[in-house]
Amino acid sequence: MALIVQKYGGTSVGSVERIQNVAEKAVQFRKQGHDLVIVVSAMSGQTDRLLGLAREIHERPAGRELDVLLSTGEQVTIALLSMALQQRGCPAVSYTGGQVHILTDSAHNKARIQDIEGARVRRDLADGKIVVVAGFQGVDEHGNITTLGRGGSDTTAVALAAALNADECQIYTDVDGVYTTDPRVEPQARRLGRITFEEMLEMASQGSKVLQIRAVEFAGKYGVPLRVLSSFEDGPGTLISLEDEDMEKALISGIAFNRDEAQLTIAGVPDQPGVAYNILGPISDANIEVDMIVQNVGADDTTDFTFTVHRNDYDKAMELLTDVSRKLGGRTVEGDKKIIKIALVGVGMRSHAGIASKMFKALADEGINIRMISTSEIKVSVVVEEKYLELGVRALHDAFGLAEAAEDEADVKAKI
Ligand code: ADP
Ligand code: ASP
Ligand code: MG
Repeated sequence: MALIVQKYGGTSVGSVERIQNVAEKAVQFRKQGHDLVIVVSAMSGQTDRLLGLAREIHERPAGRELDVLLSTGEQVTIALLSMALQQRGCPAVSYTGGQVHILTDSAHNKARIQDIEGARVRRDLADGKIVVVAGFQGVDEHGNITTLGRGGSDTTAVALAAALNADECQIYTDVDGVYTTDPRVEPQARRLGRITFEEMLEMASQGSKVLQIRAVEFAGKYGVPLRVLSSFEDGPGTLISLEDEDMEKALISGIAFNRDEAQLTIAGVPDQPGVAYNILGPISDANIEVDMIVQNVGADDTTDFTFTVHRNDYDKAMELLTDVSRKLGGRTVEGDKKIIKIALVGVGMRSHAGIASKMFKALADEGINIRMISTSEIKVSVVVEEKYLELGVRALHDAFGLAEAAEDEADVKAKI
């Protein structure tokens, strides 16, 4: 008998029928003798709908009130799923994040989990109940409701699995695993039998929204075996695990992309010590995260400085940069929201040269101009014009032969 934490995303609980389907699946697991904790998201579209309502009332709603509002989406689905389980004669109980003491910091809309008190859940499991917990939400030390950022239910599930020392954390969604790239953009994309935490973390942080970054971080840190599976069909899904000896080391595991970035450039500022700090200091003071940075030094002792931020932060960043430029005597400030980032990810890059140049050639062959480049040990990412997203991803998928499975790649069957 195992303890499994399962998480069902928005599409998987998007209608009464689908909630019934989740209840059916859960009852089957229970019949096999496993203990089950289920984390659910709000019904698909609900979080966006609630955000829309808030923005109709206030241009910049307070984070605290937004969290009170957004957390209601998950409260609906925990109650409905528990009812569906009870209707099938299966004892079940629903809890909000606060009720099971998912303690977070007070950073509304992007809170981090600090602690989970698992006693209540363990008691219910011992009583033979299925425990249904609201994803995406917690409570801070003052009792305020907090939320964990978009896609945060994944993190709730992994954190619960870690706190309860579960045998596996299963993320059920609308795709049957992690693919070489988003199958919505590249139909040739292939499901991976397995991927390392490190690669998955890089994929998630480069924009792959199949798992929230923090969920992968947590799973890696606490060694929680994590699996992505389909809610709608049976299959082994994708196991995310530590690298081990017999694991086939793919050169490139996948391609991630990010549509949420925007680029800003300040040109003709004096090339002297402190310039980067003077430019980026105010940006970071405003709590705006900077992703890529490029600096070019001109012949006339001035420098051009380009960086990217989240699109939601673009207007604010532009305002700050214009101010900085005035103070530093910059020539121009320009920006572009119509850019995207594409990244190649793979642990095999560590031991292979020439990946970046192959990537640049594949993009050049399609006439795609690269605006910025950034590399790490296991990724190469580029910024290009937004209109080249599909073309770029498909060209790279093809150039690196990602549609063909490596010979020894195998699915890893669940132990449970
Ligand atoms: P849920 O609501 O279940 O949390 P999400 O929409 O957050 O589901 O995540 C699943 C989606 O992630 C898929 O429908 C797919 O379009 C997208 N996705 C992006 N990159 C990948 C990838 N590499 N592999 C699989 N799915 C991906
Ligand atoms: N409902 C939240 C969202 O849409 C959390 C989640 O689905 O994971 O982002
Ligand atoms: Mg998600």
